[in-house]
Amino acid sequence: MRRTDFDVVVVGGGPAGSITAYMLARAGIRTAILDASDFPRKKPCGGGLQVRTLRDIPFDVHHLFRGTMQRMSLSYGMENPYTRAYPRPLVHNILRSQFDHYLLQRAEAAGASFFGSTSVRGLDTLADKRVTVRVDHHEYTAQFVVGADGANSVVRSFLNERCNYFWQAAVYCEIPELRLKSCAYDEDCMIVDWGSLPSGYAWAFPKEGCVNIGAGGPLAAARLLKAYVAKFVERRGLLKSPGQQLDLVGHHLPTLTARTKVASERVILVGDAAGTVEPFTGDGIAFAVQSGRIASDCIGRALEAGQMDLNGYQSDLYSHIGNELLWSRKLLSVTMSFPRLMHYLFRTNDRVWETFCRTLRGEDSFQRLKRDVLGPFEFAWSLIDRFTQSREQRILDRRRFRAIGEPPGELLQRSRGGEHIHSQNGQDGDFANADQDESRVVSPKECG
Ligand SMILES: Cc1cc2nc3c(=O)[nH]c(=O)nc-3n(C[C@H](O)[C@H](O)[C@H](O)COP(=O)(O)OP(=O)(O)OC[C@H]3O[C@@H](n4cnc5c(N)ncnc54)[C@H](O)[C@@H]3O)c2cc1C
Repeated sequence: MRRTDFDVVVVGGGPAGSITAYMLARAGIRTAILDASDFPRKKPCGGGLQVRTLRDIPFDVHHLFRGTMQRMSLSYGMENPYTRAYPRPLVHNILRSQFDHYLLQRAEAAGASFFGSTSVRGLDTLADKRVTVRVDHHEYTAQFVVGADGANSVVRSFLNERCNYFWQAAVYCEIPELRLKSCAYDEDCMIVDWGSLPSGYAWAFPKEGCVNIGAGGPLAAARLLKAYVAKFVERRGLLKSPGQQLDLVGHHLPTLTARTKVASERVILVGDAAGTVEPFTGDGIAFAVQSGRIASDCIGRALEAGQMDLNGYQSDLYSHIGNELLWSRKLLSVTMSFPRLMHYLFRTNDRVWETFCRTLRGEDSFQRLKRDVLGPFEFAWSLIDRFTQSREQRILDRRRFRAIGEPPGELLQRSRGGEHIHSQNGQDGDFANADQDESRVVSPKECG
């Protein structure tokens, strides 16, 4: 067995892995990135880059933008869409294949060594506490390993059970301009529908040359997402020829909980592997990148001080990101319990809308948004929190979801019989049985 040695091995070359590796390599640390794919590669994603992300990317990425959205056309149960605007950019549109490739190239230019088509099978700790990363016919050894290998992380299983995360699911496709009715959308306006599933939403993000369309929601409702997107596209009149087949690809969205372990002595997790998907919007790039910055700082400090222990990363990640994710999660429970009220507030309450926009820009927080949503009822938060958590669980346990505006059960009927939504890597695309999966939905009760 051949063996190669580095200071740090980063498993996964998505945004979280590339930013971690970039920062480490720039500090002169011998860093390898191993990825199962060769780049450029496709990644299921809406390609909406929250403006807040730019704070944490240490180089310019403006040339990758394929449009910028600062308006939202929002409907509830696919009825009565209205448009709200914000005077500054909210979300930049990117193509993930280009964006991720560029970040990886920057990491390589900073000195990181990239090994593509290198699927990691597992980790072992050596007697001297160095870690071995196993791939077919080869081993990489390192002082530290960073798990940046996404929602189905192999490295994660070194530290966590699946039920230590809160799981949602999403599907997406990219439709070229040629197949779209150009009068049905504006370049600077995201189209969003919510209230059609217990939580989550459908989106259309216009980009130069195409529109990214998809939907996300609770894992227990994953098998309904495909039918939901089809209905959404039809209602919004997006396609030139209605009824065209959409080539939807699905993937899971993990969010950390109070019991997720993101650090051990020698191994830490970043991005989706750590569960940094922000659950209210389902966006994960911003916090994936931020976790990469926090992880690289932590490793840099450990190497400099000769203290070979990364356990401090646990509290670093939670104090910078974790709490915000937990607030976003609570806001999701409130939305699931009072969906019409949330819609009403987004539509009519300027303070709620502006705090939401500032949060996407990284200028405000989900904790503050929750406060604005509750308004004069903030004093009763602990009661509301308990109520919405248990109500959310009851709603998800019912497993009888339908899109509003559909005859009862129609969506469910259409998805019976194991509709298969193929995934990026074939591991998790069969959402049809998602609600039989023991990890289907991790309740707040179970996971703090
Ligand atoms: C349908 C959908 C739409 C989304 N839309 C948005 C959006 O609009 N905006 C947003 O901010 N977020 C969105 N997200 C979430 C976002 O895509 C993720 O949060 C983000 O990609 C996380 O980045 P990452 O670097 O942690 O992981 P990834 O980008 O998933 O990268 C992980 C890398 O690890 C590699 N890998 C996996 N297993 C192994 C292995 N065993 N060995 C070696 N390499 C391995 C993979 O090949 C991959 O390159 C969406 C997600 C989905 C599913």
